[in-house]
Amino acid sequence: MSQAVSPVEITTPKNTIPLKATNCQKNTTMNQNDESSRPNTPTPSEVIRKKKDVQRQLKQLAKPVVWRFVLALSVDWMVIVGAMLCAGMWPTWWVCLASVLVIGTRQHALGVLGHEAAHYTATRYRKANDAIGMLLCFWPIGGSLTGYRRFHQRHHRHLGTEHDPEMHFFQSDEWKIPVKTAAPVWRFIKGCLGMQILDYAKLIRSLLPKTKTEWVGIPIWWACFALILWVLDSLWLLGLYAIAIPTVFWALIELRGWTEHRGIAETHRYKTHWLFQQILFPHNVWMHYEHHQWCYIPFFNLPKARALDETTPVVQLRDVFEFLGETDHEAYARNNGSHLTLDHFSDQVLHCS
Ligand SMILES: [Zn+2]
Repeated sequence: MSQAVSPVEITTPKNTIPLKATNCQKNTTMNQNDESSRPNTPTPSEVIRKKKDVQRQLKQLAKPVVWRFVLALSVDWMVIVGAMLCAGMWPTWWVCLASVLVIGTRQHALGVLGHEAAHYTATRYRKANDAIGMLLCFWPIGGSLTGYRRFHQRHHRHLGTEHDPEMHFFQSDEWKIPVKTAAPVWRFIKGCLGMQILDYAKLIRSLLPKTKTEWVGIPIWWACFALILWVLDSLWLLGLYAIAIPTVFWALIELRGWTEHRGIAETHRYKTHWLFQQILFPHNVWMHYEHHQWCYIPFFNLPKARALDETTPVVQLRDVFEFLGETDHEAYARNNGSHLTLDHFSDQVLHCS
């Protein structure tokens, strides 16, 4: 697969704080040496065998299963249609508000599935993969598969470096570390209210379509959607659907701006509550660490991929947010094998470290 980026392809970040050798690391080395003298230490042939076994399992996990993708997509769309039906049947302000919230979370879920299609993990038939990704994931959120794919491939290839296009987003003072405890929550609320609409517009400008098919297809898709709603005498629901994109959908994308790579050149490896997984981080998008390790593995197999790496620490989501606040950032990076990204920190922190 052309999009697959193995960990060795990811360039060493330039703009990072190198980790110092610590007593902790030295002790670890000593302990490893001690263990090597123990009788149950794996032999070189056992290590090679285990490595081959992991590679074999990764190969199995990398197979796209179209029905699983279509099932996830169908559930998301059913929730969207259900929320629109509710608003159509009981058009009170609070039902409409709840509908926008629900629609926005599922538009985000469509975006996550679109991300899968950008990695060719929906189905192994590339034309079908792209058709599904465009018609049912990207176009309904006003995005472009080809624009996103180009942007995102560069993100994987140059993660945490100045060539990573994501590094150019989230650079305003509000994103600088340390942030106040409630700052991400406040920003999320502001995002839901549409107050970050200019940042959303900035992203869309970076993801413009790369093919004529998409330049023509996106407006046609929206015209067809409007026509269906007009025939159903519910054209106003188009506004309800559309308003969720630069508000709730965008607020959720920004939330991931905090949790995925903020402050480090690699990826935060965290776990979170089941409810948050479903509402805020659908389709295992919270397993972003594993995605960056093996971006050719479909979303539904990421839990199995996670189980293959028992050595890299997994923190709680709240630990990630604590790291974004007033804390020992170097200790977090050291404990998790990460490198701090200078660009993400305020001058005040840099002068202290
Ligand atoms: Zn990706």
